[in-house]
Parts: sequence; C-alpha cells; structure tokens
Amino acid sequence: MLHVAPSPAVAGNRHRRQMLLPWLDAEGQRRIRESTVLISRVGGLGGPLAQSLAVAGVGRIVLFHEGALLDEDLHRMVLMHPERVGEPRGSQAAETLRRLGGPHLEVHGFDHRITEDEATRWMREADIAVGAAPTYEERLLLNDAALAAGKPFVDAAMYDDETHVLCVDAGKSGCLRCLVPEPPPWRADFPVLAAVSAMVGNLAASLALRILAGAGPIPWGELVHFDAARIELTRVRVPRSAGCPACAAAERTSR
Ligand SMILES: [Zn+2]
Repeated sequence: MLHVAPSPAVAGNRHRRQMLLPWLDAEGQRRIRESTVLISRVGGLGGPLAQSLAVAGVGRIVLFHEGALLDEDLHRMVLMHPERVGEPRGSQAAETLRRLGGPHLEVHGFDHRITEDEATRWMREADIAVGAAPTYEERLLLNDAALAAGKPFVDAAMYDDETHVLCVDAGKSGCLRCLVPEPPPWRADFPVLAAVSAMVGNLAASLALRILAGAGPIPWGELVHFDAARIELTRVRVPRSAGCPACAAAERTSR
C-alpha cells in the first residue's frame, strides 16, 4: 500500500498531546513506537482496543480474526467496513488500522483463528499479548504463549454489562490459567452493547500502553471487574496456582 508522507511538522506533532501525560515522556513514547503487540480478535472489544493502540503510536500490530463480516457485527465492530459484509474480517480490520496509524504503523492481519504454533512464533517478537477473544480457548492460548515467552499478557473480556481486565506479569503474578485451568462452556450468541465492549477494550489498551511505556501503576495479577449497570468497580487478587503449567513455563523462561 502506498502512503502519502505527511509533512514533518504534522508527523512530529501527532503524539504531542498524549506526551503531556505525566507518565508518558519521550522515552516512553519511543518504547511504544518500537513495540509489537499480538492481539487475538478485533471485534466489539478488540477493535476499539486495537484502534487506540494504533493511534497512540504502537509500531507493529499483529492481529487474528476469523470469519466473514455479518451485518449484525456492525453495531459493535468499529474497524469493519459496512460495505464489505460477507468478506473476511481480519484483513479489513488491518486496513482500517493502517489508515489510522499512518506510515509508522506496520500491521499484519490474518483472517483465521490464531493457532498455538503462530502464537508461539509471534511471541518471540512481540512485547506483549492482548487477549480480546470471546472464547476461553483462545484467551488461554494467548496467556500460555505469552507466559512461555516470559512476556506480559493482558486479558479483556465482557458479557452483557459485566467486564473484566487482567494484567499478567509472567512468572510473578497469577495468570488467566491460574484462574480458569480449563475452558468452561460459553455462549457464542452473548449479549453485547458496543458502548460497554469498547469501554473495557479501551481500559485494556490504556494498561497495555502503560506496560509498553514502562510506566505504572499496573494492577498486576488483579482481576479488575467493572459492572457497567451498577457502575461498580472491584479488584480481586488472582492467587498463583501451584500446579499452573503456564506459570511454571514462565518460571523456566525467566531462569
Ligand atoms: Zn498461572
């Protein structure tokens, strides 16, 4: 794809306003720009999440999203193109992100569900994995791949008005598999309002950017639960499970 290079003044100023934040200096912004993020699913939750990472200046986004676009996806999947119903979703989401991120963003978009081998391979290069899939199988796969690589993992999920985010510090904090050892049954046709899925996606994006920038505070190993109906936030520590294979793999990597 050809990009029209913006004038240096415009390009240089793109992230000025976010760099007024006390936690984000030039060094933090450089870290964000040089980072690679692996993300599974860019739908109602992962789409706004990836959008915020792209405009914040992340250097490389690797995304996986299987299936063709349905008309009923459009109420929440903000990266998809309404005129492209019936077409694969991963590549059209990647196209939107390239346009938002500009010439400094490299996007690899795949139109299938991420496999274990792909997660392992990409986590050698990625600085962080972000799980935005509705299935526990996929979220646990990303958790395991990130921990085996000794890299941080951010898990974001929602159902109806219930949302949660978990930031995992590989080998140091509790992880998603400590909490959920095996995938429980789930309902594919779950209720979702874009305003709620985008909210939790952006909370996860905000935390991922802080992790990439080397800033804090990060609620490592805490299940941050937000009830969008009651407007209630709770934080519960996820205990490390002695028999967790993902945490054991992270410890072997860090040795
Ligand atoms: Zn664990």
